Amino acid sequence: MSGSVPLVEAPMSSDPISTAGMSRRDALRAGAAGLLSAAIAGPTRAFATEGRRRILVLGAGMAGLTAALSLLRRGHEVTIIEAQNRIGGRLMSLPLGDGMFTEAGGGHFRSNMPYVLHYVRHFNLPLLGLNDGLPRYLVDGETGDGAHLAAWPWQLAPDERNVSVSTTLNRYLERVGLDADTALDARWPDLDIMARLDNVRLSDLIRGVGASDGFCKLLNAHAGPFTGDSPALGMVPRAAYHFGDKNLFRIQGGNDRLPMAMAEAVGLDRIVLGAAVAEIDQNGARVRVATRDGREFHGDAVISTIPFSVIGDVRVTPGWSSGKARLFAGMAWDKTVKVIVKTRTPSWLAHGVYGWPMAGGDRPWERVIDITGNEPGGHGSLFFYLNGPNAEAVMARPKPERARWVVDQFKADMPDLLDEVLFMDDFAWAEQPWIKASFGGTPLGGGWMIGECARPEGRIHFAGDFTTFKTGWVEGAIESGLRAARQIDPAATPEGNPRIRQEL
Ligand SMILES: Cc1cc2nc3c(=O)[nH]c(=O)nc-3n(C[C@H](O)[C@H](O)[C@H](O)COP(=O)(O)OP(=O)(O)OC[C@H]3O[C@@H](n4cnc5c(N)ncnc54)[C@H](O)[C@@H]3O)c2cc1C
Repeated sequence: MSGSVPLVEAPMSSDPISTAGMSRRDALRAGAAGLLSAAIAGPTRAFATEGRRRILVLGAGMAGLTAALSLLRRGHEVTIIEAQNRIGGRLMSLPLGDGMFTEAGGGHFRSNMPYVLHYVRHFNLPLLGLNDGLPRYLVDGETGDGAHLAAWPWQLAPDERNVSVSTTLNRYLERVGLDADTALDARWPDLDIMARLDNVRLSDLIRGVGASDGFCKLLNAHAGPFTGDSPALGMVPRAAYHFGDKNLFRIQGGNDRLPMAMAEAVGLDRIVLGAAVAEIDQNGARVRVATRDGREFHGDAVISTIPFSVIGDVRVTPGWSSGKARLFAGMAWDKTVKVIVKTRTPSWLAHGVYGWPMAGGDRPWERVIDITGNEPGGHGSLFFYLNGPNAEAVMARPKPERARWVVDQFKADMPDLLDEVLFMDDFAWAEQPWIKASFGGTPLGGGWMIGECARPEGRIHFAGDFTTFKTGWVEGAIESGLRAARQIDPAATPEGNPRIRQEL
């Protein structure tokens, strides 16, 4: 990382914890995180200096919290304005009873995600271990287990036999001069890669070096049906997390403990909850931000992490440039539904089937992810992960029927895997008014968009995982928060100043 240039001593709030606007559960969880982060926070002292600026951060997800914390550490004044009455954005953990938690949003981290793991360590959050996928596939009416490679029934090229989907994909990427490690470097893509990959879908790229139709179908069963059709430029780094590493973790007690701990370190008194930004006005000497309920905030600069799927609801003066208008209109947003299930035991383990994913196919249940790992309690924890048309089909059904509809279809296809279901429910991202989608990504030919995301619009800077090629990953959210913070103060650094090989 670039060296840290001290502007001021690290300022921290010494005010008592303010929980105004937070739900009791959030306040309690944030309070618990605070006990941990208080030890990390260090002295609380701020100095007035000429370089000190007032920054308004829009959104209290991982990108906004990362940016806010790094600017606060540099001595700037920071206020986070968040539409919801909770902190964490798309990190949202849901209790399953018996001390278990599942994840509506970001579900796991891998050991190829250095920023996330550094932040988790920095805030002393305990990790659970999960399993990478050793799935059962159901494709074209045929079933095959990841553990029984020799028995796979599909028409595959000879050198696609007897090896995992992950290894075969990486071999094809190697044939086109790509590798998972390079794709995760923050400097991805260089101009050559941009020119080669911007207009090609992942399945076409690998078909060009020998991938069979059968393999492309298995890839979709493993990683989601959108995988092959997605533009290679964005899909290669997204897939590199899944296919470049086999060590999976989540935070014991819920992944949203991380944003909670970061919010506590920022100071809850600096976070305004229940404040949906409705207007940003850059005409005056300072930027004015107004919320739907009439509150006003003034600052020298804004970092917006408002997802582009809902940024059209914000009135901006002067209006967006043509580049930004094209960007906001052109980014593609997925709908994802998770069907959350708790079973009496993780009974699938006895069948040699487990992990991320434990099953996948061209069926309406799409993919099943087993996140049980070594979570104590003895019960099984999994979720169905539905996208695109499968997500739409579930959302078209009445809410009380949705989860059972998916679970029953899965049980009909793989009757041996689930024992007694103790709890099930669905969580539809397209129905969340503060995002109306799950992930944003660049469409075919949309490589230019990431450069446009990084370009400030006057005094407005942009962050959020969707402003990076690591969209759909917390690592991307953190990188984007740091990038936006450094546009305002080039000496801004991550908490604890980690050594990150994949340089920003
Ligand atoms: C289904 C699903 C599965 C995922 N799985 C994984 C995974 O396994 N591993 C992983 O690393 N990542 C995963 N992710 C991605 C991860 O959750 C995101 O990368 C990360 O949480 C995004 O953080 P962010 O700050 O960029 O955006 P967000 O968390 O979306 O934050 C944006 C914030 O802006 C706020 N906001 C919106 N409009 C306004 C407004 N008008 N005014 C004020 N505030 C506003 C929102 O309320 C929100 O809090 C998953 C996400 C989803 C949805």
